[in-house]
Amino acid sequence: MSLTLDSTHALTLKSWVTSANEEGCDFPIQNLPYGRFRSIGSQDSLTVGIAIGRQILDLKLAADAPGWSQDVQVPLKVLATGDLNAFMAMGPTVHRSFRVGLSIALREGSSQQQALSRCLHEQSQVLMAVPCHIGDYTDFYTSIHHATTVGKQFRPDNPLLPNYQWIPIGYHGRASSIRASGTDFHRPRGQIKRPNSAEPILEPSEKLDYELELGWFVGKGNDFGCSIPLGEADQHLFGAVLFNDWSARDIQSWEYQPLGPFLSKNFASTVSPWIVTLDGLAPYRVPFTRLTSEPQPLPYLDSQVNREQGAFSITLEAWICTAKMKDEGIPAVRLSKSNTQRSTYWSPAQLVAHHTVNGCNLQAGDMLGSGTLSGPDAGEAGSLLEISEGGKRPLKLPSGEQRSFLADGDTLTLRGYCERDGYARIGFGEASATVLTTKAPF
Ligand code: MN
Repeated sequence: MSLTLDSTHALTLKSWVTSANEEGCDFPIQNLPYGRFRSIGSQDSLTVGIAIGRQILDLKLAADAPGWSQDVQVPLKVLATGDLNAFMAMGPTVHRSFRVGLSIALREGSSQQQALSRCLHEQSQVLMAVPCHIGDYTDFYTSIHHATTVGKQFRPDNPLLPNYQWIPIGYHGRASSIRASGTDFHRPRGQIKRPNSAEPILEPSEKLDYELELGWFVGKGNDFGCSIPLGEADQHLFGAVLFNDWSARDIQSWEYQPLGPFLSKNFASTVSPWIVTLDGLAPYRVPFTRLTSEPQPLPYLDSQVNREQGAFSITLEAWICTAKMKDEGIPAVRLSKSNTQRSTYWSPAQLVAHHTVNGCNLQAGDMLGSGTLSGPDAGEAGSLLEISEGGKRPLKLPSGEQRSFLADGDTLTLRGYCERDGYARIGFGEASATVLTTKAPF
């Protein structure tokens, strides 16, 4: 694991795709994230593309264009089949040389400009899918601020359980209901036991919430029975997306003991469609720190490299726009803004090392959710459960409405971006979806 900055990260790089050079663009030439798309209304199989400015480089078309170097042609043939997982499994050396090839091809003055200009689509003209086949999905709990605030509500006397500072806490979630940004979903119903009732009832959730998270994708997997040491964990991480782990708090509080969340979490989850790669994120790595007053990670979760650059500086935001706000032309309101450097108690590499320490085999396309990334201060909370203090302090909106939890018609949008002096700003795009009314029962 080492911080590898190269010519692809240079601030001075510009693309012949001119929309990539605009101020504030999420997808400048320094980013180069991967996604899958098809034409709107078509049943075509999915095509892998690279976001560049407001366009997408279609890798199926690009594979037939001239000018690619030998080491780019082999992975490009794989990507042209639409199988992003197969490319993800090829490992970091291939990923890095492919990124260099893409960067050269998309730079101003590239000899491939003429041929590749015929391989572009407008992002607004295609439908994005989940970026790869997600085999397994694990959700962690890596913000100690979220864990403490939520713990206080569920267990006032015992908010942070004693294992938290030793183990990256997680549970196995469900991959089938993870959907791409733009896929709306119906409010779930489930068993709810109200505090003053002796028995639970089956009702639509009244405490539907969002969770502001990142989803880290596994690239090259590990063999069954073999662990990934912390020092090699980065070689098994492909990149990250924004992830909204929609949560029904009233279903959750009744069902979560003793085995953890189940139907309160698995009805829908939303990801942003572009995987920002670990190579793209390299300039925004920061030290992983642990106060000397806190337990230090066990040796299998500790290394010099992890301490120096195991964490990432990614700014994350959540925005809400209610149905009434849309009707009245009121723009979305930001609910929170935080940075992963302030919110993350365990680094992505530590999640991989811990997940495999027992021999569990991760596979290309597995997704590791970060858990709700709340920072320590007001305005940095990554869920309404924290913002409204479980409904005690409803949030006031410019439309005159109040929210303790989400209402039907609310659109919740996550955004994320990285900034560092001397480097380009890169973004994640967005993960957005609208809550629809509960479907009629049965
Ligand atoms: Mn979660």
